[in-house]
Amino acid sequence: MKYVDEFRDPQAARVLLRELDLSIERLGATPSKPLQIMEVCGGHTHAIFRYALKDLVPPALEFVHGPGCPVCVLPMGRVDDCVAIARRPEVIFTTFGDAMRVPGSQMSLLQARAEGADVRMVYSPLDALALAEANPTREVVFFGLGFETTMPSTALTVLDAERRGIKNFSLFCNHITIVPTIKAILDSPGMGIHGFLGPGHVAMVIGTAPFEFIATEYKRPLVVAGFEPIDILHSLLMVLRQLEAGEAKIENQYARLVDPNGNRVALEAITRVFELREFFEWRGLGSIDHSGVRMRAPYARFDAEKKFAIPNVRIADPKSCQCGEVLKGAIKPFQCKVFGRACTPQTPLGALMVSSEGACAAYYQYARRAHIETAA
Ligand code: SF4
Repeated sequence: MKYVDEFRDPQAARVLLRELDLSIERLGATPSKPLQIMEVCGGHTHAIFRYALKDLVPPALEFVHGPGCPVCVLPMGRVDDCVAIARRPEVIFTTFGDAMRVPGSQMSLLQARAEGADVRMVYSPLDALALAEANPTREVVFFGLGFETTMPSTALTVLDAERRGIKNFSLFCNHITIVPTIKAILDSPGMGIHGFLGPGHVAMVIGTAPFEFIATEYKRPLVVAGFEPIDILHSLLMVLRQLEAGEAKIENQYARLVDPNGNRVALEAITRVFELREFFEWRGLGSIDHSGVRMRAPYARFDAEKKFAIPNVRIADPKSCQCGEVLKGAIKPFQCKVFGRACTPQTPLGALMVSSEGACAAYYQYARRAHIETAA
């Protein structure tokens, strides 16, 4: 296959759906006792809704939406920390667009900007570095967040700042790692997931080996999946075939882009600049050991946590917010009491409604008619 149309071919989809039906039948799953497959990545969640795959797959196959949206797992306290840095008069605070709308306990970065803080949206950390170069009397802070997918570009920007001797650039590092989080989900009580669609973009960087423990220790299959509808249906079938055979392996459906060994250059940059934190706080999932990174000592001068006094705020989510349960796959977004009512993309209460990769935003965009309007 060479062109994107081939990954959206209706005939190929029909064949795969028929195979899924047969496999589900052989596995004996039923709508009341479905097979639960978690798609770890928010990109997959949106593709599943965008192409209506949720409605096309057999009803005895249930998608469980995982924690792979980095904006969605940002705790409120971290947003408060961002606002505190952004309000400093010497600071130009830079970040990606969706992070600007995540609610903190008092306000979002967008609201801080409306109140006078110099908050600017950038498309890459290199944009922030260019701002630092153009504004030598100001301190430019880049809010670095995301999984291993975005870590390399941040690391390479820090190395570039060092090479070019730019001193007024720093990073507020909130990068996170996916593997300990999947482990936390697998360890959670009542975990009923039968298999995983693995995050294709993260795997492009880290390869497939870091996922091996899911098969060896937890006896669950994981298939690293691409993001087109045929990719997802094919990956589902690969998971089901393993279940039928009583196997648990890590397979790579996204081989056209994912090298099993990952990307050497990206991994070297990550290893050079970052080291694991002892623990990191996730929205709704609590503190997870070794699930985030910080900057290594030789790059301390580019570390916003060292440069500025960060309040390190810890705030519980509002009581009405059930983002944690959604992130763990315990409830569906529409089962949250405020979904589509107090919490909408225009007035988000939780981060899952903010990000374009959030499960709640996906349900709201593609399935709210079914879940709100018919319930009203
Ligand atoms: S509807 Fe809003 S508050 Fe409820 S889980 Fe989704 S994002 Fe969180």
